[in-house]
Amino acid sequence: MSKIAFIGLGHMGLPMACNLVKAGHDVLGFDLVPSALEQLVAAGGKSAVSARAAIEGAQVVVSMLPASRHVEGLYLGDDGLLAYIVPGSLVLECSTIAPEAARKVHKAAAELGIELLDAPVSGGTAGAAAGTLTFMVGGQAATLEKARAVLSAMGKNIFHAGAEGAGQVAKVCNNQLLAVHMIGTAEAMALGVANGLDPATLAEIMRLSSGGNWSLEKYNPWPGVMDNVPSSRDYSGGFAAELMTKDLGLAQESAQSTGSSTPMGALALQLYRMMIKRGEGRLDFSAVQKLFVEQA
Ligand code: NAD
Repeated sequence: MSKIAFIGLGHMGLPMACNLVKAGHDVLGFDLVPSALEQLVAAGGKSAVSARAAIEGAQVVVSMLPASRHVEGLYLGDDGLLAYIVPGSLVLECSTIAPEAARKVHKAAAELGIELLDAPVSGGTAGAAAGTLTFMVGGQAATLEKARAVLSAMGKNIFHAGAEGAGQVAKVCNNQLLAVHMIGTAEAMALGVANGLDPATLAEIMRLSSGGNWSLEKYNPWPGVMDNVPSSRDYSGGFAAELMTKDLGLAQESAQSTGSSTPMGALALQLYRMMIKRGEGRLDFSAVQKLFVEQA
């Protein structure tokens, strides 16, 4: 079992860290929010007073932060964490960030003899709690083999997407598709209900027909259709619309850099920006339903 530092105990990081504790690892966590640390301690982990303190003696460092700037701020620069991580340690950077930012952190780590993987995840907060996340890994195949036991305690499917930054490219493509089918699902639900259909009946018909998709299967955006999803708790918890907006922005940057045509992704980004303008950025991304039905 390993001594693991876990930085970023939010919606995703906390349940992931708890699964590492359950698997028998010695987990020392750090977050800027004290209540997150208390929850880790209640689950059998330990809390550190800073990221620097958390990495002391750790063989593995896992980070799960909101965006590129947080990750670059944590690891890079004269006082960044990489300067203090012991060479030979393993860093698993699981946040969703720009592929370019991931490559920057990879390069800095390699120069210091630290093995690092970009390992963003899919599966939502439910997948994080159940330990069934999908990891999309970028970096050296040999490093992935060293990381596999730790990743397996948090996830079920572990894919080697390719070289440094490739995990982030796969994640950005996946989330663009997720946004598009979530918006399409919300639009179809509103259309059917406005035309007299019962939402649960419509959801079940589409789920088992050619419109079936993950949003209908696991994450229906219409309140009351499914238990234990954000739409049934006023869109709280889950994956914040502002984080989806960030990911759609990353997808557009990737499209720009290669001249790719992504009109659906561009439209999805605009709709999520509208949510932020309406003050709904902290709601789960399935609250895009509200754009189609004010009372939903
Ligand atoms: P979150 O905002 O709930 O958690 C982020 C945590 O990082 C917060 O608790 C915050 O206090 C902490 N933090 C920020 N800066 C820090 C620092 N310098 N040191 C220590 N802690 C710091 O976000 P989340 O929903 O857990 O998402 C985390 C990442 O995972 C994001 O990149 C997101 O895009 C990605 N993701 C989220 C989901 C989801 O369903 N929520 C699914 C897949 C991927």
